[in-house]
Amino acid sequence: MKDNKRILVTGGAGFVGSHLCERLLNDGHEVICLDNLFTGRKQNIVHLLPHPYFEFIRHDIINPILVEVDEIYNLACPASPIHYQYNPIKTIKTSVMGAVNMLGMAKRLNATILQASTSEVYGNPLVHPQPESYWGNVNPIGTRSCYDEGKRAAETLFRDYNYQNNVNTKIIRIFNTYGPRMHPNDGRVVSNFIIQALQNHDITVYGDGGQTRSFQYVDDLIEGMIRLMNTPESFRGPVNVGNPGEFKIIELAEKVIAMTNSKSKIIYKDLPSDDPMMRKPDISLAKEALDWEPKVMLDEGLAKTIKYFQELINE
Ligand code: NAD
Ligand code: UDP
Repeated sequence: MKDNKRILVTGGAGFVGSHLCERLLNDGHEVICLDNLFTGRKQNIVHLLPHPYFEFIRHDIINPILVEVDEIYNLACPASPIHYQYNPIKTIKTSVMGAVNMLGMAKRLNATILQASTSEVYGNPLVHPQPESYWGNVNPIGTRSCYDEGKRAAETLFRDYNYQNNVNTKIIRIFNTYGPRMHPNDGRVVSNFIIQALQNHDITVYGDGGQTRSFQYVDDLIEGMIRLMNTPESFRGPVNVGNPGEFKIIELAEKVIAMTNSKSKIIYKDLPSDDPMMRKPDISLAKEALDWEPKVMLDEGLAKTIKYFQELINE
């Protein structure tokens, strides 16, 4: 391919990263996947290992590294509350020191670098839906702060490396994403409900289930990430990428039970602290700047994800 590039994906053995590596290889690029395998798994990339243009490096991004690449997608960071709260100091170090290391490398190589940021930068939002111009409502000293504030600091670093050092930076704010290769034990709502339903176990709804989330299928996210990476240098984001379809958690539970023909019952547990009450992306900017909008609606994406977990359980 004429415009094939050498691309680094940090966090490439994780849920989103493994899909990104696969797509970039299919597009004809050379991919270096860097991961410390904290929440990522070799299983996610084992099918890519024989590919002649795929390379895996086990490395922790809180330590500097230099590899020669044209583009960097910076995804390394545990993403689910259970995992990022396991060692909160390590989580914020990963976001902040990881960003410094990767931005330093991008500066030296003159590479374009994309940061996987998050809707969590909006915290428990007081504006609904959330546009990129909203500054958020984030608790700096709560159980989610290591993740939320780490991601916010990383955004600041991306902004400042661009402003001060002319690094070509891009920031994507990712909203809740689901699909095959989600970690089965990461406690996220989609994987939890599907696994519980497939095994006819109780479905654990936290709080009264009235809180909302907007769920995006992983393929739509990957398309948005690649489109953002390939925008002109003048476009840096941040840009929201998510599916604006908004569902109450209780609705999701009922949907999963119906789609799996499950005998599971819904039970209610305490709402974790600082759990945002609502979340829905305003995707006007993504539509305009990336000509992007989600294509996979919840029923279709859930069906694919249920199939994946069914196979995993049968293994
Ligand atoms: P994931 O946990 O499956 O993937 C993260 C990967 O980063 C894992 O493979 C993990 O081993 C690796 N990693 C963690 N710390 C590292 C370190 N110090 N050095 C090297 N590698 C390290 O999570 P995911 O859902 O694939 O998320 C990928 C990225 O997208 C994350 O940055 C996350 O914050 C962001 N994001 C995801 C969602 C979502 O809903 N999945 C939403 C918003 C943002
Ligand atoms: N949730 C739930 N039951 C579960 C797991 C999560 O009711 O077994 C709720 C959780 O309290 C939150 C929503 O589902 O309100 C989404 O949780 P998740 O951890 O998937 O994502 P995040 O809170 O980071 O958006």
